[in-house]
Amino acid sequence: MGDVPDNEKAWDKLARAENYKCGQCGQIIPFGERQIYFDRGVCGLCAHHLDKKD
Ligand SMILES: [Zn+2]
Repeated sequence: MGDVPDNEKAWDKLARAENYKCGQCGQIIPFGERQIYFDRGVCGLCAHHLDKKD
């Protein structure tokens, strides 16, 4: 994942600066859901809902 911060404060700052927002609901991606975001472009909750639809 390159130079993605491994602490919550640094992540939050980067997420806002880089506009890391969920492609579904538009919220800033939380620290704990960053891997899901890089994989799928959505937050954890939306990824969960998308999985249910399939
Ligand atoms: Zn979302």
